[in-house]
Amino acid sequence: MPFRYDPPMSALNPSGAKTIDSIRPWRTIARRPSRKIKVGSVYVGGDAPIAVQSMTNTLTHDVEATVGQITRLEEVGADIVRVSVPDPESSAALRSIVDQVNVPLVADIHFHYKRGIEAADNGAACLRINPGNIGGQARVKEVVAAARANGCSIRIGVNGGSLERDLLEKYGEPCPDAMVESALMHARMLDDEGFHDYKISVKASDIFLTVAAYHQLADATDAPLHLGITEAGGQRIGTVKSSIGMGSLLWAGIGDTIRVSLSDEPEEEIRVGFDMLKSLGLRTRGVNIISCPSCARQGFDVIKTVRILEVRLSHVREPISLSIIGCVVNGPGEAMFTDIGFTGGSAGYGMMYHAGKKTGKTDNIDMIDEIVAGVEAKAEEVRAAREETVAA
Ligand code: SF4
Repeated sequence: MPFRYDPPMSALNPSGAKTIDSIRPWRTIARRPSRKIKVGSVYVGGDAPIAVQSMTNTLTHDVEATVGQITRLEEVGADIVRVSVPDPESSAALRSIVDQVNVPLVADIHFHYKRGIEAADNGAACLRINPGNIGGQARVKEVVAAARANGCSIRIGVNGGSLERDLLEKYGEPCPDAMVESALMHARMLDDEGFHDYKISVKASDIFLTVAAYHQLADATDAPLHLGITEAGGQRIGTVKSSIGMGSLLWAGIGDTIRVSLSDEPEEEIRVGFDMLKSLGLRTRGVNIISCPSCARQGFDVIKTVRILEVRLSHVREPISLSIIGCVVNGPGEAMFTDIGFTGGSAGYGMMYHAGKKTGKTDNIDMIDEIVAGVEAKAEEVRAAREETVAA
């Protein structure tokens, strides 16, 4: 029987006409419907773009160091930044930090409800606090009042490593049921106060546990979900674990904001987060380089070239696709689907492509400068078109 593909409803626009998704329906990700909340100026949930977060690792009361790190995170594209607020000095420092940065800040509170109130009063856009861990509903009421008065949202952050004792006794070990029960218990405490501007995370270092817990939670609530594989490890293994765990959830349409946890610089978490979303077509920020692994056929040093281009093009924010391919085996084919392309040739020359069309031979010595110039010009074109659309 011949294969027949029925496009999903998301591939049809309201008039029933086919959209780009129906041209390549295998790329469609239907996002789970969730309610939309605000973290400062950033929407999370609903149809909002999936927000990318990281967390500072400076002492929060060292205002200069913390502002410096948040500024570097803004430069690489962080939508939201979380800071720890373990003591009164840190909650007091928040006011000065908030005044010096643009990105909304989430105050990470553990156990002490007063830090939550102080952080809300001092400009935090969101409190990461688990209502069940702060000493009863009266205190929840106080924190919610402070959050409400300051336009603050809340993140309930359940972690497989710190589940409530009664749930561990009931279930024997951290498991999806226990994590979801914990999350819903905390959520109920906020719901009881009539407060619904919250998002939830159920992170664990084990990707099987994390993915199962998020699937279960996604069915049990319409709250926006913050994704993460916690304590994922160093740059390489942490990226792999996060890409498998969070990637599978995002592919299933689950997740409204993400944090890649790495034992590395926080900026790297943002870069990896965006690369993950770009790979799934869920966000488009910066240059997406498609490059081959290289082999004896390469007409130039592909690996070195890509390393240089990653650095020289890191300032570009517009979504530009670039193919850097060692030879004609795959180069012309990849160039057909990228904004700018370069394919290695022989005798020290390669071929440049713009929008899939050959634009001329380029000496390998000049190609990096030409590629950078081509990408920057294309980025300027995209920027101008966007501004024109906004003005109209
Ligand atoms: S594209 Fe060419 S150079 Fe690159 S890996 Fe394939 S055959 Fe080798």
